[in-house]
Amino acid sequence: MPSLQPSLFDGDRLTLDDAIQLSLASLTAYGERYRHWAVAYSGGKDSTATLAFVAWAVHNGYVPRPQTLTVLYADTRMELPPLHAAALGILSSLSITGTQLVTRTVLPAMEDRFFVYILGRGVPPPKNRFRWCTPQLKIEPMHAALGAWRDFVGEKFLMLTGVRLGESAARDQRIALSCSKDSGECGQGWFQTATPEAMADTLAPLLHWRLCHVFDWLYLDERHGLDTEAIAAIYGEEDIRTGCVGCNLASRDTALERLIRHERWEHLRPLLELKPLYAELTKAKHRKRKVEPELRQDGQWSRNVQRLGPLTMAARAYGLDRIFDIQQRAGVDLVNPEEETVIRQMWADNIWPQKWSDQDADGTLPLDAIRLTLGGELAVQPRIV
Ligand code: SF4
Repeated sequence: MPSLQPSLFDGDRLTLDDAIQLSLASLTAYGERYRHWAVAYSGGKDSTATLAFVAWAVHNGYVPRPQTLTVLYADTRMELPPLHAAALGILSSLSITGTQLVTRTVLPAMEDRFFVYILGRGVPPPKNRFRWCTPQLKIEPMHAALGAWRDFVGEKFLMLTGVRLGESAARDQRIALSCSKDSGECGQGWFQTATPEAMADTLAPLLHWRLCHVFDWLYLDERHGLDTEAIAAIYGEEDIRTGCVGCNLASRDTALERLIRHERWEHLRPLLELKPLYAELTKAKHRKRKVEPELRQDGQWSRNVQRLGPLTMAARAYGLDRIFDIQQRAGVDLVNPEEETVIRQMWADNIWPQKWSDQDADGTLPLDAIRLTLGGELAVQPRIV
């Protein structure tokens, strides 16, 4: 836990204005080497602070103006609704003179969207050791969009991210692991390290900003002129984790819990039922199971003998009914009509994840238990009843 005791050096800490001057200096030094800049925008606090800063600096001519500034908003379709609405509002109110501003919303491919993947294809909800969601919802769509942008402009561009190192090594660790910790912004640190070098060079102009700088800039500084009320309602002045609503990898949905304390967003309370629904869907009674041991490509037996697999068709239908009930009571759009059509078509086409089919056993079928010994042999334990 960080110490609240002021240190001897607190008086030397950067003020927000100092931090802004440093950011302007780094953006000037690196920015003038590129004609095209891009911001991968998530709607989170660091990302919004970065976008607001870059737009303000370019608009006012405090840094050399690029030819184009492209803002790619990563819409996972799973954002907290007020954050999503705020992000769209911020995008539409951005105004920059002297530079061509391009704003685009980047969506995951239809078959990769969160509920289409779970309820259409039958892949169980993500969890810590089965985290299919971040690449699929965030990284891959953004890379595809950036790749297309790189091809369009025909040269390497400057990618601006909201990654901050803050003050302590502990914080650095949290950035690197932001998807599995209780604070930070899912996928952001990951994106930073995963941006292909040939596509863009990456600069984090707010790298040295402390958390208080971010909040002071967003909430109190009127220079950027953007509406940050929803961000303030979610974060307050804490470094809480944001990402998909009901994220199954976070121990609690802190952002949602904080939000529904506000009367204005109390109607979102049914979204708290998402995590329990994911827990329900991962039970054996909703899934298929392998009966026979599987051989891996290297000729060894797969370690997870008789593993549980995808959701049964009945579980997918149950899940979709529950999602419709939750979204109707919360007044939001978790599965839209287009996604519902795709999900139902996948059921009609009898779609299963690779290596699975409706011929696989139900997860609760009584079986002789087979396990892999330490020596790599199969051991069978006959069932008792
Ligand atoms: S916020 Fe959670 S569910 Fe969403 S991509 Fe990140 S880890 Fe996955």
